[in-house]
Amino acid sequence: MSENCLFCKIARGEIPARIVYKDDDCIVFHDINPAAPVHLLMIPRQHIVSMQDITDEDSVWLGRMMAQAPKIALENGCNAGPDGGFRLMANSGIEGGQEVLHLHFHIIGGKRPWKGQQVTIA
Ligand code: AMP
Ligand code: ZN
Repeated sequence: MSENCLFCKIARGEIPARIVYKDDDCIVFHDINPAAPVHLLMIPRQHIVSMQDITDEDSVWLGRMMAQAPKIALENGCNAGPDGGFRLMANSGIEGGQEVLHLHFHIIGGKRPWKGQQVTIA
């Protein structure tokens, strides 16, 4: 945990968020500025800055966390099947476009067109 980290504060319940899923590894909540009909953020409970900090030792919890993403996407409005789907992405580091420095995966989906139909964060 990091005292002043926004997403650690959400994980600790100190800042409100629309949480849709939690387990021992992670928390998933709605992005405050959605770029598409479905826009969730999946964060590890532990404070890790970005994918740049991930090592082999993180494989197990990270794998468990990733394995939850498809189910959470479907349960929150992403569409099933080859015509549906979702985008799962982590901006990593400043050159990667990361703004909040606590590892998070965007889960983005729903009927297109999305906001601006961009390929930046959405
Ligand atoms: P990134 O640019 O990948 O670091 O994405 C940060 C994301 O966090 C953006 O999509 C923001 O809209 C989102 N965000 C910032 N503050 C909050 C908050 N308090 N609750 C939910 N989402 C947030
Ligand atoms: Zn944090």
